[in-house]
Amino acid sequence: MIQTPFSTLKLHPDLQSNLPTLGYEVMTPVQAESLPHILAGKDVIAQGKTGSGKTAAFGLGILQKLNVKALQVQALVLCPTRELADQVTREIRRLARSIPNIKVLTLCGGVSIRPQIESLKYGAHIIVGTPGRIDDHLLRGTMQLNRVNTVILDEADRMLDMGFQAAIETIIGQTPKQRQTLLLSATFPDQIKKIANRIMVKPVMVKAEITHDSGTILQHFYKVDSLEQRMDAVRLLLQQHRPESTLIFCNTKKETTDLVEDLVHHGFSALALNGDLEQRDRDQTLVRFTNRSSSILVATDVAARGLDIDSLDAVINYHIANDPEVHVHRIGRTGRAGSKGIACSLFSDKEELKMTMLGDYLEQRIEAEPLPPQSVLEAPAVKPKMATLQIGGGKKQKVRPGDILGALTGDQGITGNQVGKIHIFDNWAYVAVSRDVVKVALKKLGEGKLKGRSFRVRMMRDWPA
Ligand code: AMP
Repeated sequence: MIQTPFSTLKLHPDLQSNLPTLGYEVMTPVQAESLPHILAGKDVIAQGKTGSGKTAAFGLGILQKLNVKALQVQALVLCPTRELADQVTREIRRLARSIPNIKVLTLCGGVSIRPQIESLKYGAHIIVGTPGRIDDHLLRGTMQLNRVNTVILDEADRMLDMGFQAAIETIIGQTPKQRQTLLLSATFPDQIKKIANRIMVKPVMVKAEITHDSGTILQHFYKVDSLEQRMDAVRLLLQQHRPESTLIFCNTKKETTDLVEDLVHHGFSALALNGDLEQRDRDQTLVRFTNRSSSILVATDVAARGLDIDSLDAVINYHIANDPEVHVHRIGRTGRAGSKGIACSLFSDKEELKMTMLGDYLEQRIEAEPLPPQSVLEAPAVKPKMATLQIGGGKKQKVRPGDILGALTGDQGITGNQVGKIHIFDNWAYVAVSRDVVKVALKKLGEGKLKGRSFRVRMMRDWPA
């Protein structure tokens, strides 16, 4: 699924930092669709059932604008049942736990009203309750709603089915006209449309049922202003996520070589893959990337066509692809086989049109996130675990994988799990070995004989040693 992280929202930092502790990494469809409007203060009608994450959507909306210092009822959530009210209260408390002193009170029927009246004397910021009991408190004058800035009707269709329409209208009549009203409902009968017309102002309609393709790709977008910042951004992202294998897409061949030069200069292990490479160089590049002895491959779309690499940790779009379908294809290379993938895309003002097209295609509002802080550059770059040794003999010399493995591991050699992928071409072979046993491996292959012959062996380097 193409998923939007909460970090794309301008949420209060305390609310934002609490979300991962609840296990909320990405927004559910109803959250992704509604939260940008909710946070912008708009009235929203959302079609969402229990289980869609609707409570967190309006809960974050309430908390974002809550003034903790003013102990007055600022938000009112009306629910059809006590169970739902309890559930909503619990969720709001969880969302609010990083902000001290927020008071949430549940007011439902079926229990004695006295303790509720006592609690109300101490004040509350948020009231969650059933319409009958709330109406009762208003009649008794035990609660005021003149400072409410957000009203939520949760499961509105059920509330109407239960005959709460009159109570709802009376309650809303006691709240200020200048307020935000959010209505959640699984269905939209005429009765709901009529009530929405009376109590809401130009509501945005959000259909929570919209789901994107399934999968686990997390997309991030970053705005850059210059070529220099674009290169910088790549390094910041690599340092922040520290992926073991990354595919970076460029739109031109020159960009691939320029970016590799910059990355290698800064200590990263990167190789370029573009149409200018001779077949042998292309083979070598792919070998070194797939056997994990080079962690970054910078490629053009054409050169990467048909590339069969699984378990990529990250895909970075250096520029937005010219065609949204190409974008989806690019990012589809990460997060395979159920593993979590990261997809980062860089764009500038000049790519605004491509971004609009992409947003339409993904049916998603694309919002830029801030780049990681410069301090991430202080750590050394991720070094690949493996190194590639090139052997000057291949199929034509009848060198087989078993011969190479045997020469490396036999007679006080390295162990089998220190040997990675072996690729054999006509006149060359490549073997990946753990970086910490390169010397021994070189010695074993150099001294020992493969097929009764000595072959030239060397380690392939890609960054200044
Ligand atoms: P709701 O539809 O509000 O009743 O929420 C259903 C469940 O989804 C609740 O248990 C929430 O804690 C959980 N939930 C809400 N938002 C998210 C999210 N973004 N990621 C993971 N779980 C969530």
